[in-house]
Amino acid sequence: MGHMAIAIDGPSGAGKSTLARMAAKELGYIYVDTGALYRTVGLYALRHGADVHDEQTVAALLPEIRVEMRYDGAGVQRMVLNGEDVSDLIRTPEVSMAASAVSALGPVRAFLLDTQRDMARRYDVIMDGRDIGTVVLPEAQVKIFLTASARERARRRWRELREKGMDVALEDVLRDVETRDKNDSGRALAPLRPAEDAVMCDTTELDLEASLELILDTVKKRQSHG
Ligand code: C5P
Repeated sequence: MGHMAIAIDGPSGAGKSTLARMAAKELGYIYVDTGALYRTVGLYALRHGADVHDEQTVAALLPEIRVEMRYDGAGVQRMVLNGEDVSDLIRTPEVSMAASAVSALGPVRAFLLDTQRDMARRYDVIMDGRDIGTVVLPEAQVKIFLTASARERARRRWRELREKGMDVALEDVLRDVETRDKNDSGRALAPLRPAEDAVMCDTTELDLEASLELILDTVKKRQSHG
């Protein structure tokens, strides 16, 4: 008997992590944030002064990296890099760009695949990322492709960074969002695209509450129609 898996894919800033976390709580599933894995590898590469675009350089670092996902008492995912909790360190714009770069490299994707599938083997999961429905969990019972306009996604990310005390300009965040969109959709390997059986959910005009409702409705419908 298998576990339930809900895949949520989409571009950065569409609200995947916030909504997946809320939906997981509602459904009693484990929320798995796969972007955090790529961010952790990106952080390691940055710390070692590696060219994050160079496959051989980054691949050579992988044997030194032990990435663990842990869940604290409140069920919040923590990222542990070679024994160090880096959960907060991986949330900077620099690490976002590094994650986007290393995620285009085959050896990095292969390196992180087992960790992701292992979570789905052990738990009922809501997993968010870019290729969960297409590559990581093609058997997921529910697949959602979550989008919003680039400007709206940039605005949301900007607000988040400001709340954390980071002084960034909206136009810079928008540029980062557009660059990452292009990297994520244009890459040859596991490009960002909806699975054929994904349900499209656009949250440009929706607030958090309405978006969550849309997701939970989609899950319910999918589950009752097999
Ligand atoms: O979702 P988040 O913004 O944290 O992801 C960071 C980067 O990792 C993304 O820009 C994307 O390039 C990459 N990523 C990926 N596949 C995933 C999750 C994230 O390529 N499943």
